[in-house]
Amino acid sequence: MVIGIIGAGASGMAAALAAAESPNARVILMERQARVGRKLQATGNGRCNLSNMNADRGGYNGTNPDFVQPAILAFDPRATLNWFADLGLYTVTETSGKVYPYSDQANSVVDVLRLNLNKPNIILKLGFDAEKVQKTPTGFCITGGEETVECDKLIVACGGLAGSKLGGTMSGYKLLSKLGHKSTRLRPSLVQIKADWSGCAALKGVRANCHIEILKEGKLFNQSSGELQLTEMGISGPVVFEISRDVCYGPGEWSARIDFLPDWTEEKLKNALQKRRESDLPMEDLLTGILHNRLGRVLTKTAGVRGKNLAKELSNAELEAVCEAVKNLEIPLTEPLGMDSAQVTAGGVLTDQFDENTMESRLVPGLYACGEVLDIDGDCGGYNLQWAWSSGRCAGLHAGKETK
Ligand SMILES: Cc1cc2nc3c(=O)[nH]c(=O)nc-3n(C[C@H](O)[C@H](O)[C@H](O)COP(=O)(O)OP(=O)(O)OC[C@H]3O[C@@H](n4cnc5c(N)ncnc54)[C@H](O)[C@@H]3O)c2cc1C
Repeated sequence: MVIGIIGAGASGMAAALAAAESPNARVILMERQARVGRKLQATGNGRCNLSNMNADRGGYNGTNPDFVQPAILAFDPRATLNWFADLGLYTVTETSGKVYPYSDQANSVVDVLRLNLNKPNIILKLGFDAEKVQKTPTGFCITGGEETVECDKLIVACGGLAGSKLGGTMSGYKLLSKLGHKSTRLRPSLVQIKADWSGCAALKGVRANCHIEILKEGKLFNQSSGELQLTEMGISGPVVFEISRDVCYGPGEWSARIDFLPDWTEEKLKNALQKRRESDLPMEDLLTGILHNRLGRVLTKTAGVRGKNLAKELSNAELEAVCEAVKNLEIPLTEPLGMDSAQVTAGGVLTDQFDENTMESRLVPGLYACGEVLDIDGDCGGYNLQWAWSSGRCAGLHAGKETK
C-alpha cells in the first residue's frame, strides 16, 4: 500500500515515520521546499519549544477544541519525549513544562527527524509542490509540475498560512477544498499587536514583566501576566502572544491596559516615589532601579511631567499621574501584524469533517489531515508542535494500519 503525504514539516514527518512502521506501507513524502522542516528550524527563536508537559485539551482553540483530545491522549507529551529519545533526540523540560532539545538548537530536532526518514520504505521528494489532487477509483493522484504521484491513502500535512516567509501557505486549505472540505476564517495568532502609542518606538527592544488586560470598548476581553516586549510598532513577547488570538477583530475600539509593576501595590509605589521626592534625585531617574531605565523615563514623560529637573519638584498630582502611568497605562491597539509575523494560524479546515480518532476525512475515505491545516491552534509554549506530533502520528498510524 502506498501512502502519500503532502508536506514534510513537523506533522508530515511524524506521520511518515508512523506510517512507515506498517510493514506493508510504502510512504511517499512530498515537500515543496528544498529541505524538510524549514519552519521547524525557526521555532522557539531557533531553540524549538517542541512540547509542553501540560498539553491537554485546555491548551487548544478552534471551533471544537475537544477534537484534539483522542490524538493527544494517545500520544501525549511523555510518549512524545520517549519517541524523540528513541529517534535520538535528548530533551530538557523546564519547570514551566516547556520542552526544548538538550542542544538548545532547533536544528537538532530537524536533523533527528530527517535522519530517521532514511528508511527503505520512505521516499522523500523534495522540491515537489503538490498543485493538484484528484480522487481516483483506487486512491489519489497528486500532480506537481511535470510529475505525478499515485497513492492509495493520502495525508495532507501542509501546515497553515502563518510564518509565510518560512513556508506558510494556503496550499493545504486549497487542496482539501478541492476534495470537498471547507475552512473557517483564517486569522494570525501568537502575533505582535500594533499600538497607537509614541512610546513604543522609543522603547523598541525593552522587555518588562507586566500584567496586561486587553479591553474591547472598555470591557475586559482577555488578560495575562508575563514578559512583554515593546517593538517599534506595538506590543509583543510571550504575554502578548498568549492573548493575541482574536484581538482587534470585529468592530469597536481595542486597547491594552498595562501594569508594569504587577508585584507592587499602588501604595508601595507611591511610598517609594514619595521617598524619592524627598531627595535630590534628577527627575529622569525618578523610576531608576524600579523599572528598566528607558521605560521609567518614557512613563514619566507620558505622565505629563515636563520641564522639571529634580524629583522634589513633583507636585502631588504629578506623582499620582506617574503612578497611573506605571500601574494603569492604557494604549490604543489598532491591528495584529499579518500572517508573515504570526506563529500560528487560528482557523482552518473544519474539524467536524474529520474523525478525531483517526484524522480520516468523513467525506473522502482514505484522505487524512493533520497539524496546523486543521481548525486547531494551540497556546504559546510548545502546544502547537505537540499537536503536530500527536495528530501526525495518529494520521500516519491509521493510514498505515488500514490496509486494503
Ligand atoms: C517563527 C515561528 C516560531 C514558532 N515557534 C514554535 C514553538 O517554539 N513551539 C511550538 O509549539 N510551535 C511553534 N510554532 C508553530 C509551529 O511551528 C507550527 O504550528 C507547526 O510547525 C505546524 O506543523 P505542520 O506540520 O502542520 O506545518 P509545517 O511545519 O508548517 O509544515 C508544513 C510543510 O508542508 C509543506 N507544504 C505546504 N504545501 C505544500 C504543497 N502543496 N506541496 C508540498 N509541500 C507543501 C511546507 O513547505 C512545510 O514544510 C512557531 C511558528 C513560527 C512561524
